[in-house]
Amino acid sequence: MAVSNQTLSVAVIGAGIIGVASAAYLVREGYNVTLFDHQGIGESTSSGNAGAFAYVDIYPLPQPGILLQAPKWFFDPLGPLAIPLAYVPKLMPWLTGFLWACRPAQVHKSVELMKQLMALSRLEAHQFWQDWDLSEYIVERNSLTVYESGAAFNRAKSKWQESADQGFDIEFLQGADIQQLEPSLDKRFKHAVRVVDWPMVTDPKIYTKAVGEKTLDAGARLITEKINRISLDANQVKLADQHNNDYCFDKAVIAMGSWSNQLTTQLGDKLPLDAERGYNTTIPDPNIKLSHFILFPEHGFVASPLATGLRIGGANELAGTDYPANYKRSEHLLNKAKDFLPGLSSEGGTQWMGRRPSLADTQPLIDYSSASKNVIYAFGHGHYGLTQSAATGKLVSELVAQKPLSINLDSLKLKRFK
Ligand SMILES: Cc1cc2nc3c(=O)[nH]c(=O)nc-3n(C[C@H](O)[C@H](O)[C@H](O)COP(=O)(O)OP(=O)(O)OC[C@H]3O[C@@H](n4cnc5c(N)ncnc54)[C@H](O)[C@@H]3O)c2cc1C
Repeated sequence: MAVSNQTLSVAVIGAGIIGVASAAYLVREGYNVTLFDHQGIGESTSSGNAGAFAYVDIYPLPQPGILLQAPKWFFDPLGPLAIPLAYVPKLMPWLTGFLWACRPAQVHKSVELMKQLMALSRLEAHQFWQDWDLSEYIVERNSLTVYESGAAFNRAKSKWQESADQGFDIEFLQGADIQQLEPSLDKRFKHAVRVVDWPMVTDPKIYTKAVGEKTLDAGARLITEKINRISLDANQVKLADQHNNDYCFDKAVIAMGSWSNQLTTQLGDKLPLDAERGYNTTIPDPNIKLSHFILFPEHGFVASPLATGLRIGGANELAGTDYPANYKRSEHLLNKAKDFLPGLSSEGGTQWMGRRPSLADTQPLIDYSSASKNVIYAFGHGHYGLTQSAATGKLVSELVAQKPLSINLDSLKLKRFK
């Protein structure tokens, strides 16, 4: 006898953007969905990101030659990429996998996969906003990547050209044309690349909560408890929270971002997952108005105009989930921004640190657990969790249903770490 989806219960553990988007797709498919998150909906990494749907970004962090820059990571604690020396021993599994992922053949594979995943992300996001009536949370913007040095621009140019060849609407700008588009920007930026089609959320926390609320309205339920244990029993997935309350489901989705290893190890999957931590400051009344999302690649940060203020941030600190935050990083980026955006006021700014869930090859994991097809993994989206959230929700719903997948996920499978 066929079993209708309504009779199947699915737990989604983690209510960041990946968890809520997955829950939304599952509710639509008729499953009986329960979301678990001790912090509530969208209170962690998904609350403070830069808010961009960056479909054009297809290049992974591991690249041949990147390791020549490694000494800087240890000795420049405020540089764009930093690793506190004391954290290095804990980071070893991630670093080893990262090194392995720097092989040209692996980089090529990652880029090819990212092209597919970003294409699906673009397609699904627009459909998702329509299906869930989310357009009030979306602003259609363009991005502007600005370069001070001609050498830096020339190094990046071939990648931009590749994006243009893939069909992205890319404009190359120089000199005064840049300031005409963004009068608040300092004149030192002589080259810029404008990407037309760079949707943004009005604010990532507001957006994640809206997706979560709509999913609850559509029938999902939220339990604000921390899941500490997972086990398999016949055809069921058993969970236990921090108060030792037990729960039983037909299926479970682990979408706990940087914390996902806490449950995957209990199923025999110890993965090279760490946190690429980013910092920012959000200024409610910045005294300048930007019409673009501005990226400063030579300095590793962005200026992101949101409905809740101008958010200045970025950086990358490989230091896990619990290492103390170093808010000098937020200050450092803000001081640079004041230099590049004369007139910027930082009064009333709020500092934030978030943990980008990062697997060693900086690609997400969207697959079944090795122990059972009843447990699905959806984490490790690094810098692109918001961008790839709708596509991930769609793929998770296909994995739960054991249907053919929208894209070939071979390179995102768990076996890449075995
Ligand atoms: C500075 C910065 C800027 C960024 N900008 C962008 C951007 O512009 N565009 C983009 O696409 N991405 C961006 N990102 C990346 C993006 O924010 C992340 O990829 C995304 O938020 C990850 O979502 P997630 O749901 O996997 O993780 P999270 O949002 O971290 O959610 C995981 C959830 O799991 C919960 N959890 C953990 N353990 C348990 C447990 N035991 N039981 C129950 N719940 C648990 C946590 O409370 C948390 O709510 C940025 C990130 C940073 C730091």
